[in-house]
Amino acid sequence: MDARIVVLGAGFGGLELSTILSQELGEDANVTLIDQGDAFVFGYSKLDVLFGRTTLDAVRLPYRDVALPGVRLLRETIVAIDPQAKRVTTDAGVHEADVLVVALGADYDYAATPGLTQEHEFYSVAGAAGLAPAVRSFSSGHAVVGVCGAPFKCPPAPSECALLLHDELTRRGVRDACRISFVIPLPSPVPPSPETSAALTAAFAERDIELITGRRVAALDPARKLARLDDGGELAFDLFLGVPKHRAPDVVLASGMAEDGYVPVDSATLATRWPGVYAVGDVTTAGVPKAGVFAEGAARVAARGILARLRGDPPPAPYDGIGVCYIEFGDDRIGAVTVDFLSGPKPTGTFGAPSAELRAEKERFGADRRARWFGA
Ligand SMILES: Cc1cc2nc3c(=O)[nH]c(=O)nc-3n(C[C@H](O)[C@H](O)[C@H](O)COP(=O)(O)OP(=O)(O)OC[C@H]3O[C@@H](n4cnc5c(N)ncnc54)[C@H](O)[C@@H]3O)c2cc1C
Repeated sequence: MDARIVVLGAGFGGLELSTILSQELGEDANVTLIDQGDAFVFGYSKLDVLFGRTTLDAVRLPYRDVALPGVRLLRETIVAIDPQAKRVTTDAGVHEADVLVVALGADYDYAATPGLTQEHEFYSVAGAAGLAPAVRSFSSGHAVVGVCGAPFKCPPAPSECALLLHDELTRRGVRDACRISFVIPLPSPVPPSPETSAALTAAFAERDIELITGRRVAALDPARKLARLDDGGELAFDLFLGVPKHRAPDVVLASGMAEDGYVPVDSATLATRWPGVYAVGDVTTAGVPKAGVFAEGAARVAARGILARLRGDPPPAPYDGIGVCYIEFGDDRIGAVTVDFLSGPKPTGTFGAPSAELRAEKERFGADRRARWFGA
C-alpha cells in the first residue's frame, strides 16, 4: 500500500487497529505505530498489582514482542499533532501520514484535585505499585476509595477496588479493625445497568462497605489525612486509594482536536472532522465509556473503514458500542456487565452474576489479546 498509516498510541485501540491492518494487508500495511512506553499493561492488572496478587514484571507485555507484518513500532514521545496536514512531531522527528489515527488514551489531571499525587492513586501502573506496600501493611483504621471526577476509566474498577480491599483485610484477619468507604460521583456504581448497580450495592452492604454516591473527592490533605468532598464534607482516612480526574493528553489538547476535554468523533465511523483522521478509545467522546473493550471495538470499525477507503469498498457497519466488562466481586468470584451504548435510544446493560465461568472468560479475554497482539 502506498498510503502511510500513522497510529498514535499502542494501547487497546492502537494495538487492535494495527493488528487488523497487518492481518489484512500483511507486509504492505505500511503502518507506523508510535508509543512513548516500552510495554503494555492491561488496566485490570493494576488491581492485581495493588493487592499483591502479581508483580509488575509479570504483567508488563513488552512492545519488543509485537511482531505484526507491515507494522513498525517506534518508541517515541509525540510532542505535536497537526490534523490538517496529518503531520506528527515526536522527540525523534516528523512523521507524515495519509491516514492518521489518534489512540492516545486519557491522562490523569492531578492538579484538578489539590493535594492529590501519584502516591494516592491506583489508576496508573506506578501509582498501583507504589500503593501496594501501604495496602499490605494496612491493618486498622479508615480506608477510603475515592473517585475525583467523572468520566473515569472502567467505571466498575473502583467498586472492584473496595471489594478486593475487603477481601484482603478479611484474609489477614484485620477486617473488624478497619472501616471502608467508597466515594463515587455517579448516582450508582454502574448507572447504565441498574441490575449490576444493585448487585454491587448489595455486595457493599453485606461487607459493611459504606457507599457514598453522587459525590467526588475535591481535595486531599495528606498531612492531616483528610479527603474533602465536593459538598464540603470531610472524611478522615488512614489509607486513601484514589482515582484521579481524567483528561486527554496535553499533546491532544494542544493540537486543537479536543472539545470539552476530548476529541469529538462520528461515533458510527470514528472519523474526526479532519479528512483521513480518526480517533478511537479513551481520548474520544464517542458515546461509550472509557474502557479497553470499547477502545478495541471502536478500533475494529476504524480499521475496517480505513481498509474500505484504501480498497474503494463500501463502508463497514457502524460501531455498535457494545462491550462486556468483568467485575471482581472478591472471594475469587467474577461477574460481568454487558452494555449496549449506541444501538438504542439510551444505554442498556445486562448483569452476569459472579461465577466460575466468568472467571474463565476473563482469563481468556487476557490470553486472547496477549496472543493476538504479542504472539505470547
Ligand atoms: C484499574 C483499572 C482497571 C481497568 N479494567 C478494565 C477492564 O477490566 N476492562 C476494560 O475493558 N478496561 C479496563 N480498564 C480501562 C482500560 O485500561 C482503558 O480504557 C484502555 O486502556 C483504553 O485504551 P486506549 O487505547 O484508548 O488508551 P490506552 O490503552 O491508555 O493507550 C494509550 C497509549 O498512548 C500512549 N501515549 C499517550 N501519550 C503519548 C505521547 N505523548 N507520546 C507517545 N505515546 C503516548 C500511552 O503510553 C498509551 O500506551 C481499566 C483501567 C484501570 C485504570
